[in-house]
Amino acid sequence: MILKILIYPDPKLRHKSLPVSNIDEDITVLVGDLFETLYSDSNNCGLAAPQVGRHHRITVIDTSEKGNDPLCLINPEILESGGLFKGLEACLSLPGAYEEIQRAEWVRFRAQDRNGKPYEMKVEGLLAECVQHEIDHLDGILFIDKLSSLRRKRALNRMKKYLQKNK
Ligand code: ZN
Repeated sequence: MILKILIYPDPKLRHKSLPVSNIDEDITVLVGDLFETLYSDSNNCGLAAPQVGRHHRITVIDTSEKGNDPLCLINPEILESGGLFKGLEACLSLPGAYEEIQRAEWVRFRAQDRNGKPYEMKVEGLLAECVQHEIDHLDGILFIDKLSSLRRKRALNRMKKYLQKNK
């Protein structure tokens, strides 16, 4: 099922998500729906459960061009990070908004996959940016929080214009 994505400034985007203690049917269905929603538009590269109003520490990511490299992060934790990466970021909860954000160039993280199996992974570049962006969602943080007030205003204006055009 394609889920409805909450749009900024929905206060639910600001709630902290809780760890998943048990991968039951409810969570399995949610993970499937998150992927279906992610793949419903080929421009998407990541989606976090709180963006659909479900406050579990789950995010799904696919930064591959063909959309054939799904990554599910349940209870993700960044263990180590380094370097500096600047990239244009956008977010499904802020349609039309984008700005350049500085993040770590690489991160090593630990998470569980959709079956609950723990794994560790080191990622870099775009994928590392995406992992950091999505983990932020689990703590109620949006990419515009990382901007100066001037650039935040610019990003929100882009969103306003986009929403007016696409009414
Ligand atoms: Zn986002």
